[in-house]
Amino acid sequence: MSLLDNVKVFFDQAANKLSIDAHVRQMLEEPDRVIEVKIAGTEGGVPKVFKGYRVQHNNARGPYKGGLRYHPTVEMDEVIALAALMTWKCSLLNIPYGGGKGGVSCDPTKMTKEELEQVSRAFIRALMPNIGPTVDIPAPDVNTDGQVMAWMVDEATQIAGESMLPLLTGKPVSMGGSLGRAESTGYGVAITGIEALKKIGIEPKGATAAVQGFGKVGSWAAERLHKMGVKVVAVSDISGGYYCKDGLDIPDLMKYTATSKGHLIEGYSAPGITKITNEELLTLDVDLLCPCAMENQIDTEIAKRVRAKVISEGANGPVTADADAILSERGVVVIPDILANAGGVTVSYFEWVQNFQHISWTFDEVINKLDGMMIGCLNDVWEVAKSEKCSLRTAAFILAIKRVVDAMKLTGRI
Ligand code: NAD
Repeated sequence: MSLLDNVKVFFDQAANKLSIDAHVRQMLEEPDRVIEVKIAGTEGGVPKVFKGYRVQHNNARGPYKGGLRYHPTVEMDEVIALAALMTWKCSLLNIPYGGGKGGVSCDPTKMTKEELEQVSRAFIRALMPNIGPTVDIPAPDVNTDGQVMAWMVDEATQIAGESMLPLLTGKPVSMGGSLGRAESTGYGVAITGIEALKKIGIEPKGATAAVQGFGKVGSWAAERLHKMGVKVVAVSDISGGYYCKDGLDIPDLMKYTATSKGHLIEGYSAPGITKITNEELLTLDVDLLCPCAMENQIDTEIAKRVRAKVISEGANGPVTADADAILSERGVVVIPDILANAGGVTVSYFEWVQNFQHISWTFDEVINKLDGMMIGCLNDVWEVAKSEKCSLRTAAFILAIKRVVDAMKLTGRI
């Protein structure tokens, strides 16, 4: 099943509980607007015409908000699914945004820095008529980062003839970015995972965790878990994984990946570590599993063999809908992506607020506000799951959908 099919299943499970009419479901599920643009550029010196996408899913509660992804597999249906997830995520956290998502179908591993800059500037030029600081606010996602945002802000500022800082979030701190943005998604994954462990009676200090993906989300999730006394016994990335029964030295591993080829963990060595595959990592006997790589990593076969008690979904859609049903039956607590990885958009919102107010919050201010919102939201979702006798995922969708339906009714859209 595609990510779009999975999101539809998750949406329907909550919409059924809310008894939402068919025409309202259609209004909620289908995007407000889809934009496809062509971008001339080069990939490894070879001239190419790339396809770029921006999906504006729903803006009943505020401007569209969501990342821009550079990956060869980017295509419209995936972007639509990811944009819908942003609508539900922002609504769930009660952030005044709607949902959007975008991307370019290109292979950044084959592109030079100059080629990436050219594509980034051309992409934002093509999107400019349809986005704006109070209209649609993009951010980094897979294979895009603060540097890409910096090029885009500069291009937009040159076109508009005025500062376009609040147009994009996830900017470098030296040009309007927020302290704590880099850590935010991973920290949210870790803190919701830790709170869920507590709720099922597991003391986080000394508990064990495994993290799949050691990029922008996974590395900071592992770092926060390590800092809070959880033993991170395994991590992995596209090159494979490492296991250490006494817990890996995460700060040391982060130091290694800061300069390693492609920022991969490949080639890391430390006493007591052994190599494991991604599949072995996902089925390790740990208290907490954080899939922070890509979608569809936990399918039905893996779900039958998962031994973790809690899964905190760092990636978007890492558990397929069929696998989710198996995990639910087996009593595994799954903190859904729209909650677990919402730390990134939450601090993106903080960045946008700071930009408009021309102020900067301290790192501690940002993380304290973030923790408060994430834990508060987990508690709300936990209560709804209990009262509705459903999974945390369905409970999260129920809360999120309700707020959007309210806004759409108030505005007369439905
Ligand atoms: P990233 O590119 O920085 O990191 C991705 C990591 O996953 C890398 O370590 C990569 O090697 C690894 N990986 C990729 N394919 C893999 C595979 N098949 N098996 C094992 N490892 C694999 O990206 P990111 O920003 O960390 O995003 C990861 C996920 O989190 C994505 O689903 C993204 O949409 C989601 N997400 C990111 C943010 C954010 O703030 N960056 C916010 C919300 C959700």
